[in-house]
Amino acid sequence: NRNQMLQTNKMIAVGQLAAGMAHEIRNPLGIIRTQSYLLRLNENQEETTNKSLDFIDSSVNRASSIIDNILSFSRLTGNKKDFVNLKEIIQKIIEMHNDIIKKENIRVSLECSIDEKLKLSTESMEHILLNLISNAVEAMEHGGEIKINANVEEGNIIIVCEDTGCGIDEKNMNNIFNPFFTTKELGKGTGLGLFIVYSEVEKMGGKIHVSSKLGEGTKFTITIPAERNNDDRII
Ligand code: ADP
Ligand code: MG
Repeated sequence: NRNQMLQTNKMIAVGQLAAGMAHEIRNPLGIIRTQSYLLRLNENQEETTNKSLDFIDSSVNRASSIIDNILSFSRLTGNKKDFVNLKEIIQKIIEMHNDIIKKENIRVSLECSIDEKLKLSTESMEHILLNLISNAVEAMEHGGEIKINANVEEGNIIIVCEDTGCGIDEKNMNNIFNPFFTTKELGKGTGLGLFIVYSEVEKMGGKIHVSSKLGEGTKFTITIPAERNNDDRII
């Protein structure tokens, strides 16, 4: 039956993901092995030593953020839903980025006219917002603006995250949600962020729309059906 099939598909997907993760962690480990071998050979020449150490640092960072992401991903399934204040969740995630926002000269605005509490998993929403906002911040090395908008329209929760950052190259558009797809340098990106966003949104029966222009900015629109109670009120 359909349920069984979904379960099987999920197991295949998890297996592929595990294989991908093993592969992705092996890469930085390989770099560490090579560089420490070079360190051993090299007769204390400061410049090459520092270069090797830089490679080792960024590889360790990459491996450890892949592992962090795997851990958060493994916690994703079966998040329990509560009545939550979406605006507060968004504000909290923005605050987590306050230091970098100040440092990089980024302006952030939030518009949210939702008064009622929504039946949602806090953890899922945090994963989604954290990844969208940190991508927006990382896309704006020379400052810019992030606009976040959250509303309920026609029974859907609609969250828009728009930035004036570097934009996404047309040729990468089909890949951005794939696990491990990243355009960021070694140690900076894991390519798991949007995959996690996609998995979370899909789990809630929602949709993601992206529009982007290279050099101008990117806009992610997430639409999630709001849950209703017996009197057909949105809850
Ligand atoms: P990571 O951030 O680790 O690279 P993600 O899955 O979060 O991985 O994003 C995948 C890729 O999508 C990024 O490497 C980047 O090329 C592109 N991307 C995502 N969000 C944005 C954005 N707001 N602006 C520009 N590019 C983006
Ligand atoms: Mg990311």
